[in-house]
Amino acid sequence: MAVYEFRCRECGSTFEVNRPMQQAGDPADCPDGHADTVKLLSTVALGGKARTAQPAMAPSGGGGGCCGGGCCGG
Ligand SMILES: [Zn+2]
Repeated sequence: MAVYEFRCRECGSTFEVNRPMQQAGDPADCPDGHADTVKLLSTVALGGKARTAQPAMAPSGGGGGCCGGGCCGG
């Protein structure tokens, strides 16, 4: 589900519609009953599929195994 924002061209009010993404292009009626509405840019997307991949970084200073031994003592 995603939230889409519409604006009524008859009364000028904006309203939000919560609908599945496959119905994103469907027209929405104004809460006041007007049918002349336009879809604005969707401001909020819930449950988006865009995931930011975290880079796999080695933890810094995590109890090393090298310096505990003999390789750093030289
Ligand atoms: Zn309206």
